[in-house]
This record gives sequence, C-alpha cells and structure tokens, in this order.
Amino acid sequence: MTERGCVIAIDGPAGAGKSTVAKHLAKHFGFLNLETGAMYRAFALKALEQCVDADDAAALEGLASETSITLEASEGGNRVLLDGVEVTKRIRDAAVTQAASRVSVHPPIRKWMVGLQRSLGRGRRVVMEGRDIGTVVFPDADLKFFLDASPEARSQRRFEQVGRSNGSGGRPVRAAVARELRERDERDRNRADSPLKAAADAIVIDSTEMNLDELLIFIEDQVRAHLSLPVVSEEI
Ligand code: C5P
Repeated sequence: MTERGCVIAIDGPAGAGKSTVAKHLAKHFGFLNLETGAMYRAFALKALEQCVDADDAAALEGLASETSITLEASEGGNRVLLDGVEVTKRIRDAAVTQAASRVSVHPPIRKWMVGLQRSLGRGRRVVMEGRDIGTVVFPDADLKFFLDASPEARSQRRFEQVGRSNGSGGRPVRAAVARELRERDERDRNRADSPLKAAADAIVIDSTEMNLDELLIFIEDQVRAHLSLPVVSEEI
C-alpha cells in the first residue's frame, strides 16, 4: 500500500458489471466506493437544465466553473449532490445518460473531473470505477481491472436493470437500450481525450460467459492474490 492509501481501479464499457463489482469489493474489503460516471451524469443534468449545448466546450467550461459535485458513500451506492442538492435518482434518466457521454468528450471538462476525482480518492482506500481511472485518474493505482463483455450480453444486462428500476410501468424497449449502449460505446472509445481502453497493466476480464457470483469470486481472488487486505464482510 502506498502513502496515498490504496486505489483499486475498475474501468470498462457500460453494462460490463463495473458498479456491482465495485460495490461488492468496497464492502468486502472495507473500501470507499466512488462512481465517477455519476459525476459526469450530474454535470450533464445541470447542462440540460440550463440549456447549455453538450457540444459547446466553452459554454460547458463556464458552467463547470460555477458547479459543485460531491459523491457521498451510502449503503446502496453513492449519493450524488449537485450544487448541494441530491440528484442521485435523476441522473439515471436516459436523456442524462446520453448527455453525460457527450459532455465528457471535452478536455476542459475531463481535466476538471480528474482533479475532483483525484482529490476524492487521494490518501484513502477506494474502489473507483469509470472509463479512465487506470489510464488517467490513477495511473499508479495499486490494482487495475478492465471489465468487458460482448455488446449483446451488456445490453441484455442493462435492459434487465433499467426494467427493474422502472418498476412495472414504462418498460424500456430492448432495441432502444441496445442502441443507447452502442452510441455511448462508440463515443467513449473514440474520443480524442482519454478514450475508454484498458491500461497496459490492467487485469482484463471478459464476463460474457460468467454469472455474477463467478465474476465476484474471480475478482475477489485477484484482489487477494495481489494485495494483502483483511476481509471486512463475507457476503456475496
Ligand atoms: O459509468 P456511467 O455509465 O455512469 O458513465 C456515464 C458516462 O460518463 C459514460 O458513458 C462516459 O461517457 C462518461 N464517463 C467518462 N469517464 C469516466 C466515467 C464516466 O467519460 N471516468
């Protein structure tokens, strides 16, 4: 462990299981879990509310200078505060999801976010998940995972997840979920600044053929093999 604490980085595309894995590892080893995607989402929500064009880098930079975003750990995941107001649920809307991947292509926005993320993680024991944690935010992370799965498996998982959180009404259309995922994938992988990719020293896991328990056990074993950490919670 380094003097800055201990960072486990989890990167990968949407629907690969990052959030579930990150939550589990954080609980199991007593770490703080930080979802960096929630920060981009919160900023995208503000841009949508203020009618700032997601392609206008200068206007977004101005907006960022008057925005505060905080993540607070809680049992069920991160509570997200935008300018002091909780937006945890609202940032999961489909419009916010797409806007998040659009505002996140702009270098000044990424620079601001990376600074915030480093200050949230520095000196602590954190599992941080996102797209560029192992490559840009904490290139010297103690352990890095890149979680992937086939586009079909990821969109099926996302479809089930969105359906559950919608309750009985407003079931998402399968094709729309697949399209939304594909568009985000393309934008996240092809942007010039910090594109989604595995760090050279990341452990790459394809979970297409794994069920959730297998994935969690495999990752837990990897953490134990690479870091000597006491277990805090045995639950899967
Ligand atoms: O992880 P989540 O799906 O909540 O992220 C929403 C969007 O935020 C992603 O599609 C991506 O464009 C952006 N993001 C990013 N870098 C991160 C985390 C998220 O660019 N570290």
